[in-house]
Amino acid sequence: MTHATTSLPVHASTELDIFDADQRTRVAAAAGIAATTPALNPRTLDILSRIEDAKRGMPAEVGSFLGHLGRLISAHGDADAVLGFALRALAKPPTPCPEYSWCTETGDHDEHTGGTIWATCPDAYGNPVLAVGLIDWGKGVKVGLLDLDLAPVEARAKVAELRTHLDHVERLIVLAEQGSTAPAADIEHARAGQ
Ligand SMILES: [Zn+2]
Repeated sequence: MTHATTSLPVHASTELDIFDADQRTRVAAAAGIAATTPALNPRTLDILSRIEDAKRGMPAEVGSFLGHLGRLISAHGDADAVLGFALRALAKPPTPCPEYSWCTETGDHDEHTGGTIWATCPDAYGNPVLAVGLIDWGKGVKVGLLDLDLAPVEARAKVAELRTHLDHVERLIVLAEQGSTAPAADIEHARAGQ
């Protein structure tokens, strides 16, 4: 077939009118689309064909909507991208957790998990340190800290230990600032954490 032209938009019918010189023939829409718009990939051609099938017997408004969708897909050239965009636009927003404001799960769920926070200073390898998050997997709200699932009172005790440790760290920093003039007794003081 040479000098083929279409008499209808590629999305308007399940069949296309193809003029080949003076001979008019009818071919299946998908084949016609493939012949006239080679840029469309097989997946997109398949979806356009299915859209044409779906329009059969539909009320005019539905057919019009599907036709518009087909035109968007033809113009864009990537059916999945267009359909994905449409579905995301129409998607029902996820239902937030009804039990805990900190829970990041949505919809129906039994295990509640919150987001994780870390100290703002990663270690030398870029690894985050001191991850903390909340969970309730059926045994009450736990605080995830130091790879432990702690009851709130236990978590408070750990935080107190960490604060004490940071006090010791600060004492060592003071010794570092004092340099070699620091009395040995003070270094032992810092080591003992007193
Ligand atoms: Zn939840």
